[in-house]
Amino acid sequence: LQLHRIVMVGAGGVGKSALTVKYISGDFVQEYDPTKADSYQKRVVLDDGPCTVDILDTAGQEEYAAIRDNYYRRRDGFLLVFSLCERDSFLEMDQLRRQIMRVLDEDVIDFGSNGASNINGGNALSIGTNGAVDIPMVLIGNKSDLADMYRQVSVEEAQELALSWNTMYIETSAKTGQGVEEAYTELLRLVNRR
Ligand code: GDP
Ligand code: MG
Repeated sequence: LQLHRIVMVGAGGVGKSALTVKYISGDFVQEYDPTKADSYQKRVVLDDGPCTVDILDTAGQEEYAAIRDNYYRRRDGFLLVFSLCERDSFLEMDQLRRQIMRVLDEDVIDFGSNGASNINGGNALSIGTNGAVDIPMVLIGNKSDLADMYRQVSVEEAQELALSWNTMYIETSAKTGQGVEEAYTELLRLVNRR
């Protein structure tokens, strides 16, 4: 069975754990140890058949560059999550993406690329026409159930950022489940297509 390894990336408190648990079990967790990084597996059926998805839920340890790099390596796709009620978590997104690109780009160079594709530790990275690594990622604005009262990031500016990354923007709520299935499924589609 194909294994797709994805990772949740974003500031503390944005709902990375809540989204992961919602997707895995359908339950909403009010309280989840904010320091607990863990991985979860689930069998899913995509367009081209069943696969196993392994979700790494990160928890702040990625402030240490060495730990962070190891989180990002050997991952096939990235959910970049901010809270749409917390502007700072949105402003961090671009930097987090650059860190991911830097780690994966280094790996391509380390392992010697012929400019077409490259296998490292099972991570097949494709190189775009501009020479940059083409990384499956989706931008997620979480806590949409609170948006009416507390929105700090507009749909338009989030879409604009996603567009500049050449990817899509999806709003989710780990509480109601809105967009959660879609967020993971869209990312897995990108991983599959690569
Ligand atoms: P993490 O640090 O990114 O893993 O964030 P958590 O998953 O631990 O969530 C932080 C807090 O926000 C917890 O109290 C969650 O219950 C809450 N939370 C997470 N997602 C949502 C959501 O979509 N809606 C609401 N209302 N609360 C959420
Ligand atoms: Mg967490």
